[in-house]
Amino acid sequence: MVRHLSADELKEQYQRDLDVLQRVCPHKKTHWCEEWYAPAHGTGWTVLSCKNCWKIIKRKTKCNRCNRTIVVKEEDYIKLKYDSPIKHHLCSDKCYKEFFSDVIG
Ligand SMILES: [Zn+2]
Ligand SMILES: [Zn+2]
Repeated sequence: MVRHLSADELKEQYQRDLDVLQRVCPHKKTHWCEEWYAPAHGTGWTVLSCKNCWKIIKRKTKCNRCNRTIVVKEEDYIKLKYDSPIKHHLCSDKCYKEFFSDVIG
């Protein structure tokens, strides 16, 4: 009798295979698209992702204060000091302070 994997096991296997694919993929075909954290709810970021392995390579958005374009590599994204993933994108200490002093008044 064939033993079928459970949904949990399938998910783990998928994640492992996807990790391997993303490590070895040369990311030759990429495209920019809007990032969503839920259907119809954008994060405000546009992400450059690989069509072959879905890895996000880098992302861009605009500073909510000065409108400057912010571009970050995906590995630097988690280190961003001023970004909350959903609401605010601010490019610097200065913009961060100005933005929140405007909001609070
Ligand atoms: Zn790729
Ligand atoms: Zn700014």
